[in-house]
Parts: sequence; C-alpha cells; structure tokens
Amino acid sequence: MQKIRVQASTSYDILIEKGLRRKIKDLLPRKEDTRYLILTDDKVERLHYRELAGDLQASGYEIIKYRVRQGEGSKSMETLKSLLEFMACNNINLSDILIAFGGGVIGDLGGFAAGIYRRGIDYIQVPTTLLAQVDSSVGGKTAVNLDQGKNMVGVFKQPLAVFCDPDYLKTLDERDFCCGLAEVIKYGVLFDRELFDKLKAGVDKDMDLDEVIKSSIEHKRDVVQEDELDKGQRQLLNLGHTVGHAIEILSDHALNHGEGVAIGIAVMARACKESGILSETYENEIEKALVNNHLPIETSYKAKELMEIIKRDKKRRGSYINEILVDEVGRCHLEKFDFKSLENFIGRGLK
Ligand code: NAD
Repeated sequence: MQKIRVQASTSYDILIEKGLRRKIKDLLPRKEDTRYLILTDDKVERLHYRELAGDLQASGYEIIKYRVRQGEGSKSMETLKSLLEFMACNNINLSDILIAFGGGVIGDLGGFAAGIYRRGIDYIQVPTTLLAQVDSSVGGKTAVNLDQGKNMVGVFKQPLAVFCDPDYLKTLDERDFCCGLAEVIKYGVLFDRELFDKLKAGVDKDMDLDEVIKSSIEHKRDVVQEDELDKGQRQLLNLGHTVGHAIEILSDHALNHGEGVAIGIAVMARACKESGILSETYENEIEKALVNNHLPIETSYKAKELMEIIKRDKKRRGSYINEILVDEVGRCHLEKFDFKSLENFIGRGLK
C-alpha cells in the first residue's frame, strides 16, 4: 500500500492500493457513536455502493445514504440545500462522518457540505474517477457552482483521509477515463517531463496506473503544502482552467471538466507558441499528447465570448486575472493579465 502524507492546516494520509476498497471498513476511525453518511451519485450507487455498504454494515457501522443525480448539475445550491436538510433531518452531528463516494462532483459537494454543516464535520474522500483520484480528492478545495460561474461558492476543508483504489476505475467509461487524463497531462506539462512521457503516446485503461496516480497526487500534495489557500503557487494548478471553465459553461456542460481543461491547455500552449514563449516542438508534443488520449484540443467559441465568462471567473482580482503560461514541458509560470491583453492572448491560441 502506498501512503502519501499531506501536511496542511490539518494533516492526513492518502492511501493508494488496488483492492483497498475492501479494507475501508478496517481503516475508518471507530468511535462508538459515529455514524457514516455516504454521499454518492446514482451511477456509483448502482456499480459500487452495495459492496461498500455491505462491508461497513457487516463490521457493525451504522450508515446512512444520500444519493444525488450523476453529473455536474448536482454541484448546485439546490442540491447542497437538500443535502444539508437531509443531514439535519437525520440529526447528523459532530460525531458523524461524511464519506464522499464518487467522482469530483461528489467530492466537491460533499466536502463543502461537511465544511459548513454545523460549522464543520469530518469527511473522508473515496474517489472513484481518475480525475478525483489524481486531483479533486486532494487538497481540500470544495465548492458548488452558481449560474454565474463554476465553483463560485465553497470553502477550504481538508478531508480526514483519502482512500484511493485504482480498481474503481475499471468501470469508468472511456470518456470519463480520458477526462482524468487531462488533469494528469496538466501535471506533466506543469512539473514533470517524465510523467508527461509516460502519457504522450496515449494511455490504455487496462494499463497499470498506480505510479501515474501516485506521481500526480505527490505533485498536488507538494503544491497544497506550500500554498494551501491558493494565494501563490497553487494557482499553477489552474493551467488551462480559465478557458476550460468558460467552455464548460458556454457548452452548458455538454463538454465536461476534463474536456474543457484539455482544450484550455491546448489553447494556452498555442497562444504561448504564437507569443514566442513556447517552442513549436513543445507545443506539438502537448497537442499530440492530448489527441492521443482522445481529448479535444479545439473550440469554435471566440475569444470575446470566452472573455464574457472569464470576467466572472472566481480567480479574478479587480480587473486582472493570473494566467498560467507554458515555458516548456515540465515548466510553467504565472503571469498577470488585464482583460484586454488576455482576450488578445487567448485569441492567438484559437485555431
Ligand atoms: P463526476 O463526479 O461527474 O464523474 C464523472 C462520471 O463518472 C459521473 O457520471 C459518475 O457517475 C461516473 N463515475 C464515477 N465513478 C465511477 C466509476 N467508478 N465507474 C463508472 N462511472 C463512475 O466528474 P469528475 O470528472 O470525477 O470530476 C469533475 C468535477 O471535479 C468538476 O466539477 C470539477 O470542477 C471538479 N474538480 C475539483 C477539483 C478540486 O480541487 N476540488 C479539482 C479538479 C476538478
């Protein structure tokens, strides 16, 4: 079993192992009066809930389930309110622990509910998508969306633990699997040539991904430990996300998070090449890595349309926004843009 320790405002372990899901029952903190509220979505419920619930019940734990509809639509104020009311009706209290059992949507929604309900209860992440395992379950950013923008309402709330079983990924469909790869490619472009090289020819779902998952989590851990509250280096993790989030919203989530991020990375790489920051060789490599992993790299939205959404981005500070520019594969930097300059810059990256 791999163990990665995160030392943030509260410290916790991320455990990674194939088959770990069957050991969760032995890893949970066992207190006499603790009940476990398992938050999941309808698809994960259908595929994996019975096994987890059965294991916990057989070990004598009291569990309560709350299920939401799969997809980004559940990261909403309405779903959050229903969840909080359910928690209150079931008298969930400070002894109880929420288990966010699903992908990034469940982790973000569950973490936020745990962060604000009764001013904070404990929660554990059991991520079941590649995206959630390599990225969203780590680091304590939680949020829901508003009509006006993604992740507009949220808190920093670190989990008690993250239990990551790569075997969960076997049931992911191809599209959701590839969306997770977009975030892994992001870590490669940001920090890690070696990781990028492992991905660039395309990753097969049946490949052993343990090392790829571990390296990605370690990169996230390092950044979170240095800048938990996103004031400095953590912003690098937003590579491709400003454009990506705008595309997600403009497409009304027909394109999902990983696909938006993939296009965002490609747009920024092309814009960096056109601006003389990134060599053509690197830019080609980045586009190829995305395409080889069945990810989109183009959008028909215009820079002006994207900017209308970007102006409402939660990362905005006054009339500026920090963007992540690519110097080479494995090295990026932050740069402050006013809106007009950013529109021109993004325009250079649109095909
Ligand atoms: P998701 O949670 O919607 O999961 C994608 C789909 O996979 C869903 O239909 C879900 O039901 C299904 N699924 C989950 N586990 C499965 C399994 N084992 N087998 C089969 N199907 C399964 O989306 P996601 O891609 O996991 O996460 C995207 C979300 O994460 C976005 O809302 C994004 O904003 C957020 N995010 C948050 C952070 C953070 O730091 N908090 C970082 C990156 C992304």
